[in-house]
Amino acid sequence: MFDLGWNPLHGVPSYPAERYAVLADRIGGILQSRNDILLVQAEAVVALEAAAVSLARPGLSVLNIATSAYGGWFGQWLRRGGATVHDIAAGPGLPIDVEVIARALDAGPHVDVLALVHAESASGILNPLPEIMALARACGIVTVVDAVASVGGHRLEVDDLGIDIAVIGPQKALGGPAGVSALSVSRRAWELILRDGAPRNSILSLADLKTWIDGGRQGLPGTPAPLEFFALETALGRVEAEGIESVIARHALAASATRAGLAALGAAAWVPPAKASNLVTAVPVSEALEPAALIAAAARLGVELTESVGTASARLLRLNHTGPRAVFQTVLANVVAYGAALRQAGHPADIAAASEAISAAYSR
Ligand SMILES: *Cc1c(COP(=O)(O)O)cnc(C)c1O
Repeated sequence: MFDLGWNPLHGVPSYPAERYAVLADRIGGILQSRNDILLVQAEAVVALEAAAVSLARPGLSVLNIATSAYGGWFGQWLRRGGATVHDIAAGPGLPIDVEVIARALDAGPHVDVLALVHAESASGILNPLPEIMALARACGIVTVVDAVASVGGHRLEVDDLGIDIAVIGPQKALGGPAGVSALSVSRRAWELILRDGAPRNSILSLADLKTWIDGGRQGLPGTPAPLEFFALETALGRVEAEGIESVIARHALAASATRAGLAALGAAAWVPPAKASNLVTAVPVSEALEPAALIAAAARLGVELTESVGTASARLLRLNHTGPRAVFQTVLANVVAYGAALRQAGHPADIAAASEAISAAYSR
């Protein structure tokens, strides 16, 4: 026998079957939704693919707003299922303009489904969700919102906004585990999914997942991974103790303090506040500077800056203030490290003024 010593994760008990429904209800509370809440035993990108696969079929017409790679994949999954997809792209690394969508809806053929990502961590932008939802509602279009990054970082009143399918994950602003995710599904969305033969017998089938609800929401199918669900329960407990409104306010403050710090440093953020996500702040790097050198200089101070990903130019750096990082200490360290990196590269940066601005933002 090997003696590996005591380990708290040895012999993990099953997650109690009767508590899955409680988890779903608590997620419904965070989303402010009375729609069906489905638990997906995988990371959020799987829940997104499940939504696409379950909706897609020949004859379905989709307006797909693509402001990052996630939107691109969503369109691709729909096309693979035979749907007719009209992609609408924004400028590189920028949010979509609601006028562009209004024009597409006016000019184009009938649209069954509109899909978009709410907040993008890829380039730190926010799409105008309430305005887009109002347009879609007026046309009776079923809406799918990737709210994986935005839940907990931005207001997301699923029923008030009329979101038919909202996909979320606990691993971003909610500070939870990455191996489980969830969707809310409205009655209208179910009608679209279940008409003329929904895909079945697949890990990506929402119709299959619905059998959990129809069967009285007991144990989940298969062998659920208990650690993920215990971790989800813990994360939801923390969110509820803090209050979802406070979690969102904490992210909004982290974003505005970061922005104030950057401005004092002499580095303006990539987009104006109304177009910015509360999760990461992107800052353009001038041609004279090398992003990799700035990242390396910040890393030497123990601060992780990253290049933006996806459609944005490679010359955007991201300061991350998501989840447990949406606090004064991290916001301060991010901006000070960026300022120190600029100075090491021979670029002026007023670190003292930036620190003052951040302290002031947090002392209001
Ligand atoms: C993080 C994220 C996802 C899901 O990514 P996972 O790799 O499954 O965690 C989906 N959409 C957006 C907008 C995200 O930021």
